[in-house]
Amino acid sequence: MGLFKKKRCAFCDKKIGAFNKGKRFTDGELCSDCSGELSSNWHDTVKYSLSDAIKHINERKNNIEKLKNEFNPDSYFGFRPTLFVDTERKLFCITLGGARESYGDVPRYVNENCDLFSFSQLEDTMISSSDNGIHTLTVFIRNHPWATKLVFRDRIASNYEDMLVVDAELRRISYTEK
Ligand SMILES: [Zn+2]
Repeated sequence: MGLFKKKRCAFCDKKIGAFNKGKRFTDGELCSDCSGELSSNWHDTVKYSLSDAIKHINERKNNIEKLKNEFNPDSYFGFRPTLFVDTERKLFCITLGGARESYGDVPRYVNENCDLFSFSQLEDTMISSSDNGIHTLTVFIRNHPWATKLVFRDRIASNYEDMLVVDAELRRISYTEK
């Protein structure tokens, strides 16, 4: 146990430095590459163990299968990020990329393996701006295995306005369900 013993990624065993940007867990941490397999909407990983991370990766595989087979968006809103809505199945997801960007035949939301939510999982949204001109859109999510909020930052507030209008629509729909 030397004083200068380097930490290693619990998944790939790569050495990780003090400024590692990867996710931390109760019993170890991951390098930034391996953390890329986890949802960017999973913020509180420090409360979970590495075995939860493995379970999470399997759930992410289910998520991408649902995006491919059970999600058929009929409308989209905003630009960066873009909100994709399947009004028939009452599902939505939000990508970071532009709506018309795709990789060959693969839709952007599949390529990003965006977390898929039902309308009823949308709790609230908030838009705020900081002194340095950065606007932050936070979408609060409830009753989801790992996502509690989605956070988007941009210098241009109007990029979000289109989405917020739709958010009201989404919430209206989820209210009628009750
Ligand atoms: Zn790794």
